[in-house]
Amino acid sequence: MENYHYPDDQGFFGQHGGLFVSETLMAALAELKKVYYEAKADPAFWAQFQYDLKHYVGRPSPVYHAKRLSDHLGGAQIYLKREDLNHTGAHKVNNTIGQALLAQRMGKKRVIAETGAGQHGVASATVAARFGMACTVFMGTEDIKRQAPNVYRMKLLGAEVVGVESGSKTLKDAMNEALREWVARVDDTYYIIGTVAGPMPYPEMVRDFQCVIGEEARMQMQEAIGRQPDVAVACVGGGSNAIGLFHPYIDVPETRLVGVEAGGLGLNGQQHAAPISSGSQLGVLHGFRGYLMQDDHGQVLATHSVSAGLDYPGVGPEHGLLHDLGRVQYEAIGDEAALEAFHLLCLQEGIIPALESSHAVAWAVANAPKMAKNETILVNLSGRGDKDINTVARLDGVSL
Ligand SMILES: *Cc1c(COP(=O)(O)O)cnc(C)c1O
Repeated sequence: MENYHYPDDQGFFGQHGGLFVSETLMAALAELKKVYYEAKADPAFWAQFQYDLKHYVGRPSPVYHAKRLSDHLGGAQIYLKREDLNHTGAHKVNNTIGQALLAQRMGKKRVIAETGAGQHGVASATVAARFGMACTVFMGTEDIKRQAPNVYRMKLLGAEVVGVESGSKTLKDAMNEALREWVARVDDTYYIIGTVAGPMPYPEMVRDFQCVIGEEARMQMQEAIGRQPDVAVACVGGGSNAIGLFHPYIDVPETRLVGVEAGGLGLNGQQHAAPISSGSQLGVLHGFRGYLMQDDHGQVLATHSVSAGLDYPGVGPEHGLLHDLGRVQYEAIGDEAALEAFHLLCLQEGIIPALESSHAVAWAVANAPKMAKNETILVNLSGRGDKDINTVARLDGVSL
């Protein structure tokens, strides 16, 4: 894939991506793109980014050989990229640090963000406190009920949390509301999008900030085993932790790339959040074109996953292209297999994974036994599972 240079000037990754927003946001997005491209070419910007990743986030995150889990499964060697060890407990902070630096460069004093489970809201509130900016987080009232500890975390960090009552009162609606607020306050407000979705330049920008995952992994795997893994696997919600791992591996032909979508209760009904593996058509949502779960009339479908962070009906445009090109294989893992993998990693390795990451672990659990002992699977462990213990307890019938 030597000729892989995306997005194009119009923000397209093949037929995915672009810029589908109201006139009022066009100017703001053009300005953002200009400032981002200047920052991207400025070594001082990356030096500051690297400094914060090292001293504030705690990077590089290690690559860890899960030897007991590998022995237990009796096949390929499983390595974990430990994004769960980052400050705030997931990969999301890599992106919010980058965008906060950009907001600062633009002289903005206020940031806004959308959040579903609350992880991106917490990561945004965290960097707002760190850089001395006001922060407002939009969150569906359904999610506010389900994620009370994260709501309180955001408030402790000084953020204002605004409940969104429209639609299904979840992530998709929170993102609509954040876009509306940005239109109204574009002069003093920077909008931090939490994944590789949204209008140009967000998918490219968020990817660039998350690529630290794959860049580190390439060096660390070389050091650990003297070559690159046979498979690299990551869960896909909007797709930011997966792109962060995959992008630096696009031109490593010996490494197969697997994106794991949320299969929920199964792909035959609508109780999942797997737009690519369920064969969705293209649609437009949140300012970009991409594979989108929708009914015959183009209405966006409700989604389901045991993990709130994967519960999104669309997928970032670069994933759409990587699927079209056949460079990444997308598969679905359901709630039950993810939960089993969650428990297995707890017991075999002493690591409590996020339910999102458990989907990627479950892929390794299912496939490692079919591979040889000298083959390797690198799993992106996108986050830690402390936030999920109430959900898991409820599903296991345990009351806390
Ligand atoms: C939010 C989240 C995800 C899903 O988002 P992506 O943009 O697809 O990475 C995955 N894992 C964790 C731990 C998360 O918090």
